[in-house]
Amino acid sequence: IPPSAADSLSLTAQLNGNPMLNGHAPESNDSSPASERLQIINDEKNFTTYLTSQIERWGLRDAGFNYNIVAVFGSQSTGKSTLLNRLFGTTFDVMNETRRQQTTKGIWMCRGEDMGVMVMDVEGTDGREREEDQDFERNSALFSLVSSEVLLINLWEHHVGFYQGANMGLLKTVFEVNLGLFGKKAHDGSQGRTLLLFVIRDHIGVIPLANLQTTLTADLTKIWDSLSKPQDLQNRRLSDYFDLSFTALPHKILAADQFEAEVQELRKRFVDKKRDDFIFKPAYHKRIPADGVAFYMENIWQQVQTNRDLDLPTQQELLAQFRCDEISSVALSHFTEQSKSQRRPIEAGHVVGFGDLMRNWRSQALSRYDCDASRYHQGVYQRKRTDLLGVLNSTLSPLFLGQLKNLHKSCLSSFKKELLHGLCGEEYDFADVIGEARTKCETLFADGATEVSLEDTDWTWQDELESLREEIGNVADQCRKDETKKMANLIERNFKNQISEPVGISLNKATPDMWDKVLSTFKQTLEKAESTYLAKARSLNCTDDENATSLAALRKRAWLVLREKIDEQTTDIVILGKLQAHFEERFRYGENAVPGAWRPDDDIDGAFQTAKDQTMDLIPRYAKIAPVDPSLEFTLPSETSDPLNSTDEFNFPSTLVVFTETKSLDLASRFRKDADAYYVEAKRSTVSSIARIPSWILVLYRKFARSVAMLLS
Ligand code: GDP
Ligand code: MG
Repeated sequence: IPPSAADSLSLTAQLNGNPMLNGHAPESNDSSPASERLQIINDEKNFTTYLTSQIERWGLRDAGFNYNIVAVFGSQSTGKSTLLNRLFGTTFDVMNETRRQQTTKGIWMCRGEDMGVMVMDVEGTDGREREEDQDFERNSALFSLVSSEVLLINLWEHHVGFYQGANMGLLKTVFEVNLGLFGKKAHDGSQGRTLLLFVIRDHIGVIPLANLQTTLTADLTKIWDSLSKPQDLQNRRLSDYFDLSFTALPHKILAADQFEAEVQELRKRFVDKKRDDFIFKPAYHKRIPADGVAFYMENIWQQVQTNRDLDLPTQQELLAQFRCDEISSVALSHFTEQSKSQRRPIEAGHVVGFGDLMRNWRSQALSRYDCDASRYHQGVYQRKRTDLLGVLNSTLSPLFLGQLKNLHKSCLSSFKKELLHGLCGEEYDFADVIGEARTKCETLFADGATEVSLEDTDWTWQDELESLREEIGNVADQCRKDETKKMANLIERNFKNQISEPVGISLNKATPDMWDKVLSTFKQTLEKAESTYLAKARSLNCTDDENATSLAALRKRAWLVLREKIDEQTTDIVILGKLQAHFEERFRYGENAVPGAWRPDDDIDGAFQTAKDQTMDLIPRYAKIAPVDPSLEFTLPSETSDPLNSTDEFNFPSTLVVFTETKSLDLASRFRKDADAYYVEAKRSTVSSIARIPSWILVLYRKFARSVAMLLS
């Protein structure tokens, strides 16, 4: 008993000690599954549920079309089972000689020994008594015709020529049934052609086989002609549907050795494909794949039993649907097992060569399906294949998308790495670095995405590429902003260095065109800085707007740098020092800058006043940045950014003011104090020099003072 059959046995059946369940389960005389026989249709006319598993146990499940089916017909107890057992090595029940007990009715099936043949033993009746028996006869004839390539018609020699005895009524049924089934189609020989092999038993040999054959053929033709055929099939002949063949066997008991020898000779005709009289000609094959035979037969039997019109194309389509579904789900379960194992790795990150992996699983599943399903109805096979492909693709689709996400991530990080690498030196062109990194990254993504894109799908990776592009853009943008800022800072630092010295010098000498010099230095340096910026900005792909903003910022920063320098040069101490120096120069050396100490006849008061006034004039000069040449004036737009936060305000005119009015007054008064002190000191020095110092010392002192003054200046 196959395991599946054993599983399905009910507990009651087991308790009753009757595991055979209506004789459905296969029986065997020895332990080999190949010799097991199965009652496929039992006494109650029910079809067995074990045929599928039995065909597998017979080792024929995967035979495709490479198998044959033969059935035997004939009256009861005419030695049919005996013939089959001798001919095919089957194990059918044979009537016990001593008890003359009838064998089990129904249809039995067994595998031919050492041959891919399924043999059906149809246990007939006399065909003349009960209506029920006639029904079964008709149904089993129909059933056998649909499934078998060859019908063995078994009869005694002495029945030839006797209608009743030879059970010719059975043949009439076979012909009628066949006409109904294949009437229109069979003419082209494409479907339903069957071989009727007459086996004449107990052939004594007095009447040659040829004569018996003539008699039988004449009888068959008579039967054929007597059939009521539809109008359009009136002219069809028996040979349009059947091939006829005749053979005779000696008496099994009286000529046992001869019988055995001729049976073995007949067997060769079922086995040796090379023989001209090989029996299983391809034209007789019913083209049902071996793995679908059980389902097909069961359906046919159901149809036959319920007296429904047997529409074979529909049956074959039904079979195809059923089997293609089964085959498909087997292929799918293998596939699911494979693809499940990669779900986690994909979630964890990029899997190298994943496209090939998926391609492999998918083609394995498809070829698994094709291998078995392609033998079935082509329309159904193709349709189910498309369905299967759809399921395979939709199972793989999330993995594809996962892989795209991984690819996106890894490409983005390689882009960042590429950027970092490209921007680390001094000599680089930003636009080139970005462009190269972008191309590399997109190529990497496209290659990876193509690898993982399966043929015959509607999968696209354009969306993912777009989103990657967007992120690349963001990174590049941020990078560019940082780069721009870095560059602006560098330019500002250079600017500061460049203006520091010339501005310092200009502010030291408070000439009337002091601011002209300062501003012209400022403007020239700024111009240089701006063109440096623009040159770099071009490589950074800055927009005009960005350039405008950056340049405005640069100008403002530059101006503030200048102001810082000015502030540094005009702190109280520094500016007072400058005033002092200016004053001393004017006062001590006079208008004509004649060096020397004051003499009593010198106009100290006049000189003092002049020097002081001239120096005082410098304060307003320093107080405001104002060039003499109006073309040198510099201006910036004022900003009132946030009305609530006035500390942020930048008011350009106010930045022109170096000293406020108050500050100027304060500086003036502090200077005046210093100057006055200097004046008093000068006065005192003349008086003391007149009073006490001899003239030769004065000469020496003047010389010394001049040297000191020279050193100081
Ligand atoms: P079935 O009912 O047609 O399957 O017939 P069986 O194979 O069960 O055989 C019925 C009886 O006929 C048995 O007793 C056999 O021994 C006997 N028998 C079998 N073959 C031959 C044969 O070739 N000639 C004769 N005379 N008897 C046979
Ligand atoms: Mg029998």
